[in-house]
Amino acid sequence: MSTEVVAVSAVSAEQLQSPSAPAQQIAVEKVNLLGMSRPQMEKFFEDMGEKKFRAGQVMKWIHQFFVTDFAQMTNISGKLREKLEKICEIKAPEVVHKNYSKDGTRKWVFRVGDGEGSLVETVLIPAEHRSGLRRTLCISSQVGCALDCSFCSTGKQGFQRDLSQAEIIGQLWMANYSYMEDVPVLERERSVTNVVMMGMGEPLLNYDAVLNSMRTMLDDFAYGMSKRRVTLSTSGVVPKIDQMVKDIDVALAISLHAPNDELRNELVPINKKYPLEQLIAACQRYIAKDGNESSRKHVTIEYVMLDGVNDHPEHAQQMIRLLKNLPSKINLIPFNPFPHAPYGRSSRNRIISFQKTLSDAGFVCTIRQTRGDDIDAACGQLVGQVADRTRRAEQWKKKVAQQNEILRSQG
Ligand code: SAH
Ligand code: SF4
Repeated sequence: MSTEVVAVSAVSAEQLQSPSAPAQQIAVEKVNLLGMSRPQMEKFFEDMGEKKFRAGQVMKWIHQFFVTDFAQMTNISGKLREKLEKICEIKAPEVVHKNYSKDGTRKWVFRVGDGEGSLVETVLIPAEHRSGLRRTLCISSQVGCALDCSFCSTGKQGFQRDLSQAEIIGQLWMANYSYMEDVPVLERERSVTNVVMMGMGEPLLNYDAVLNSMRTMLDDFAYGMSKRRVTLSTSGVVPKIDQMVKDIDVALAISLHAPNDELRNELVPINKKYPLEQLIAACQRYIAKDGNESSRKHVTIEYVMLDGVNDHPEHAQQMIRLLKNLPSKINLIPFNPFPHAPYGRSSRNRIISFQKTLSDAGFVCTIRQTRGDDIDAACGQLVGQVADRTRRAEQWKKKVAQQNEILRSQG
């Protein structure tokens, strides 16, 4: 939200009574409509004394025609448009860097927050698919992450803050808008076909904002995306998985990364709180809810391949036992190294034989394509491009320096 001097009518009675602030110059925040879900915007309009169907109209302008100027909303009366201009705005986070590569991949670095703020990254990856061209957007939900998985550079930054709804939806808005900037307003279309909540942060720990944002993604007055094409990825916040099952129907991906508790405690520390048995049970509840809706036919299991750590044949066997009663599709992710990472990427052969073991056991198991490390670096591990200024990052660097020192002294 930004601050701007607005008309007297928009400030509170309390502010008006303040002798130190002349009424005409009282600064108040404009309300950013970008992130509001439909129920929230309907309430906003009703509170303003307007009809609630206005919310749907405005949402269409914002999310389907990518309009940020109320003057362009031609089916809204001039009087209401003026009123909206005074107290509202439609504002995506500031883009500080963008990179559109020849292969179609697009990246944006956004500044969020006031002043210098923090940086978050969003990546769009196109891919040919049976059903046509897919454009999948990888969206961040937090700046940093508190969960500290040992192979993840976002975790190494520590947690800085949750993203707001406007900052989450702003990523989708900007990606769509980037294809339509030069297209006349009424001819604009939505270009992003799929969303994965696999950028920075643990989406289930920013629950309300992520839930409302996903509702906007599915809403026919906004992005109208199919529930199979919106995927939430979690490292396993079990109670929130159950909550999500009650609140919304979208696809679910689980960052498993280890097939037994001992190893998973080390790689994905939240496992100490919600061990595998609980996590798998939550996934089964997700699958079981209300019969077999199309988005809930399976859970996607993400498994990052760490050389010599979780890629032994025995681990594949443990996976088979662990997942035998869970309809799942397994996605093996070649580890993406980052500076000072304590792991290496499993060899291609190792990954292929791991895949073969799982496929032979009847699982659908794919290997994530890596089209160059810079592209893969997008999802979930953005520290290289994002200023890391937390204490944990400092501690991490110190630890690595110490280890290097020890190695050097040992010759
Ligand atoms: N916090 C959520 C979503 C963001 S992480 C989660 O953990 O699921 C998105 C995905 O990227 C996760 O599967 C995560 O484990 C993976 N990831 C993180 N660091 C990675 C790395 N260095 N190489 C490959 N994948 C990584
Ligand atoms: Fe957080 Fe996901 Fe990275 Fe783990 S893998 S630290 S949960 S962003």
